[in-house]
Amino acid sequence: MNQRGILTVISGFSGAGKGTLIRELLARYPERYALSVSATTRSPRPGEENGREYFFVTKEEFEKRIREGGLIEYAQYVENYYGTPKAYVDAQLEAGKNVILEIEVQGALKVKEKFPDTLLLFVTPPDAAELESRLRGRGTESEEVIQNRLRQASWEASFMSRYDYILVNDKLEICVEELHALIASQKLRMSANSSFITQMKTELEKYQG
Ligand code: 5GP
Repeated sequence: MNQRGILTVISGFSGAGKGTLIRELLARYPERYALSVSATTRSPRPGEENGREYFFVTKEEFEKRIREGGLIEYAQYVENYYGTPKAYVDAQLEAGKNVILEIEVQGALKVKEKFPDTLLLFVTPPDAAELESRLRGRGTESEEVIQNRLRQASWEASFMSRYDYILVNDKLEICVEELHALIASQKLRMSANSSFITQMKTELEKYQG
């Protein structure tokens, strides 16, 4: 059975460990997952590469993509555009790969509205103190940036209940398997198997009395 992949959106507070979690999932199950690389108008940070973390584009290029319908969703976040390229996601889902989008809450809700079968997952540390200590532990950000991220987290928390599942990232080892299990179970939903169901019904018709 060649089943279409599952589209999964992962959001969560800055400092929740989403990046590490997703990298670990892809490293463990490279055949099953594909990570969508977003387009953004923000400048690359040191160490970031075009096409790996993001496709870094100008505002004009980004707006052209919007007009041409090349993005599944996009959002403005801290004065920059971020968006999910449509072609790559469609091709990977068609090839049976589960596609992961790591995007913020506004984009996540737009994707869910457009594609109701999308799995929405929210990653959080076990408590707020741990979030603050992880943000400080990076040692790369100014106090102002840390305070902004915490304020942002407080706003994002108001959207958590609109997600399908919560992932508490305490132990990476456990969290990555929970993530994998949630996506695997989404794949077994009746609504994700309509062509299989149709085929089974057709094959069984000959046994009708
Ligand atoms: P950063 O600038 O720190 O890489 O990302 C800022 C925020 O933008 C993060 O919350 C990240 O998840 C989100 N983001 C990254 N790509 C996309 C995208 O394609 N669409 C939306 N809506 N958000 C994105």
